[in-house]
Amino acid sequence: MKVKQVEKMVRACMNQLKKKEYELGITKADVDAAVRVLQVIDKNGVPGCGGRAIIKINMSYWQHSNEPHTFTEYESYNEDPVIGKHEVQNFEHCVWLQVAHEVSHHVQYAICPHIKRFSRRGSKSYLKPHGDGFKTIYRFLRRDFINPLIDTNDSYFHHWFSREDLPKPEVKKKKLTKEQKENNSYRAKSKKLLKTWNSLWREKYNYDIYIEHGLQHGMSGGEFNFELALYSGYNEDSEDYSYDLRDHAHSWKEAYVWIGEEMKEIMEVL
Ligand SMILES: [Zn+2]
Repeated sequence: MKVKQVEKMVRACMNQLKKKEYELGITKADVDAAVRVLQVIDKNGVPGCGGRAIIKINMSYWQHSNEPHTFTEYESYNEDPVIGKHEVQNFEHCVWLQVAHEVSHHVQYAICPHIKRFSRRGSKSYLKPHGDGFKTIYRFLRRDFINPLIDTNDSYFHHWFSREDLPKPEVKKKKLTKEQKENNSYRAKSKKLLKTWNSLWREKYNYDIYIEHGLQHGMSGGEFNFELALYSGYNEDSEDYSYDLRDHAHSWKEAYVWIGEEMKEIMEVL
């Protein structure tokens, strides 16, 4: 049932953007295509997403709640009076903001490449995830459709999500166990260590290493698991060196040991 409602929201946003005044050239086929790529999920700990062939809306996104609160946006434009943070009253408002945001990404990648005025290069490119192209589209939706809807506190639907469709109430934060405290301290230590190694590397080879961590993390069966990767790409100025290393860690303590050992080896070899 709620999928149908989110579909209606995506359709409403696309139909809004179809208006001639925006000069986006959106057709009925584009509207249908957007609805077709919609995925509605209900998962803790993951955001939504929007791309050329995907619009993913998460009913359990951390900012969604049925209580009045401030819904925030990306830091770079959170203070913008139109597309930035906004006061919301209920769950429906939250979902509208997420739908409008992800639909804007979809239009950014599916429609903007075909429009001349968006094809600027560099930092103005429509390709930048929360850059000018995205913000232009999102501003149309927020200014002309979403903000007025939220501010009049009207429901778009006769019957919005029933109570059992709402995400379960948040569990109150428990006191940290000794283990969790230890994990947190290793997390801080790991980050510090990564930073040190990175600056050493840069000094020695004059280019950056990239360290990705916290990828694919989540609770599965109550177990913390994340992927650590360390790699540097081909670099023409220095030797054509590239390095790739991946491993999994189940706690920050494991990660800390891994970072220490691997990095030491790399630095010694080179
Ligand atoms: Zn985004």
